[in-house]
Amino acid sequence: MDKKRRDFLKIAGATTLAGLGGPAVVERLVSGTSPAQAKAAHGAETHGVVSEHEKENAPTGRRLGMVVDLRQLKKHPELMEKIVHACHAQHNVPHFPNKKDEIKWIWRTEFDKAFTEHSHYHKDKLTIANDVLVFCNHCDEPPCVKACPTRATFKTKDGIVAMDYHRCIGCRFCMAACPYGSRSFNWRDPRAGLDMNRINRHFPTRMRGVVEKCNFCAELVGLGKLPKCVEVCGSTRAMIFGDLNDPDSEIRKVLKDNFTIQRKPSLGTHPSVFYIV
Ligand code: SF4
Ligand code: SF4
Ligand code: SF4
Repeated sequence: MDKKRRDFLKIAGATTLAGLGGPAVVERLVSGTSPAQAKAAHGAETHGVVSEHEKENAPTGRRLGMVVDLRQLKKHPELMEKIVHACHAQHNVPHFPNKKDEIKWIWRTEFDKAFTEHSHYHKDKLTIANDVLVFCNHCDEPPCVKACPTRATFKTKDGIVAMDYHRCIGCRFCMAACPYGSRSFNWRDPRAGLDMNRINRHFPTRMRGVVEKCNFCAELVGLGKLPKCVEVCGSTRAMIFGDLNDPDSEIRKVLKDNFTIQRKPSLGTHPSVFYIV
């Protein structure tokens, strides 16, 4: 495939991820994970990051991922609300006060609830006292993708677990399949929970009966920008985004230099979000 075509698909991908593209583009972006891809993407190295040999043989290219530095979030407690607000404003996430109708792309929760498999050995006082931020893990083996009957949920070649809202029939199989509760269902018309005078006109609002979640800011990343949450963190470096398949990337360096954990690693979903504790 020539470069122009690749560049077009990249931008088209960002557009589609924003719910604006057509099914043909979605089809082009859907990447079924072959056994070779799965092997390459998981790798045998620490953190599930691929080795050089595996990278050379990997047909998938990039695998975008995130590191959340919980030490920085502890140091800058005001950041959490800023991050949530920035993400939700960017993506026109509605606000409904009652729990049942709540829509969330990124939210704070207790350490024990986020890391059910680690809580027994990371219980220092500071960790317990502070919430953590959770969002979609953009799993490398995403059960939500397998569960979706319409391919409304799909994995891009960059490893983003994305959604085409126009294809979503609201069956909620993906919600049942996601072990992290990363997805929200629009029981109500989401526009009723938005100030329509202040919405982001560059990102679509959704409809009642559609599922949504963090999209790794594909609409920004496709334009060469950083995810909103990473931008808000600024020089604190509390969130670091990059290509897990690139040995020279900052995220790989951070993973090499720090001890990190993932959410529910025993489930074999291979999350692309890592936490420095
Ligand atoms: S965290 Fe849940 S919604 Fe996100 S990719 Fe994994 S299984 Fe899917
Ligand atoms: S609710 Fe939508 S995204 Fe989820 S499985 Fe059903 S069609 Fe797919
Ligand atoms: S990557 Fe983008 S969509 Fe996901 S939590 Fe961060 S700001 Fe929200």
